[in-house]
Amino acid sequence: MQRPAIIFDFGNVVAHFDYRRACERYGQRLGITGDAFLERLRDLGFSDIVQRYERGALSSRQFAQAVCSLIGLEISYEDFAASWSDIFWLNEPVARLIGLLKRGGYTLVLGSNTNDLHAAQFRQQFAETLSHFDRLVLSYEVGHSKPSADFYHACAAAAGCSPAGCVFIDDLAENVAGAVAAGLRGIQYRDVSSLVPELRALGVDIPESPAP
Ligand SMILES: [Mg+2]
Repeated sequence: MQRPAIIFDFGNVVAHFDYRRACERYGQRLGITGDAFLERLRDLGFSDIVQRYERGALSSRQFAQAVCSLIGLEISYEDFAASWSDIFWLNEPVARLIGLLKRGGYTLVLGSNTNDLHAAQFRQQFAETLSHFDRLVLSYEVGHSKPSADFYHACAAAAGCSPAGCVFIDDLAENVAGAVAAGLRGIQYRDVSSLVPELRALGVDIPESPAP
């Protein structure tokens, strides 16, 4: 059996993130909690703006301006960007698994719905882990986002494989279903101790289990 290429989602797979970290800093400026800030932002249409940003339809400055005017936040672009970017921490067991897979000779691709500011942050913050990836497929660069079939086909093309030759790992059921609909094999990520046997069941050779 041909060795599959393995495509990892970034957020809540390679690294964890929490928007509330940013929202607490923004909320302080308005005298409200981070949760209240995020709830107010979502009620005002934040998700739609983020999706446009993550498909590359808005620049970082346009995005910052849109969010700030939506909620009445007066803050410099630099301060907005610094808070927006500082929301990630490494998922260490997955990072160890990525290193093992790389040493095993697997083609690894990162397939992330993300944006310019977050990608600039995580490329720097997780440079060692990301150095194991052959290619990064980022929604704002390719102009497509999960769960659109075009996004998964861009990942397969980056891996140099047919869709059927790829395994796509994502924490969101909707994104796994999108991968399967696009002809890839899919695994929903829960934790590394369930991911390892699921990869092995698809023929991926993992010589030792990374400690959880
Ligand atoms: Mg995710």
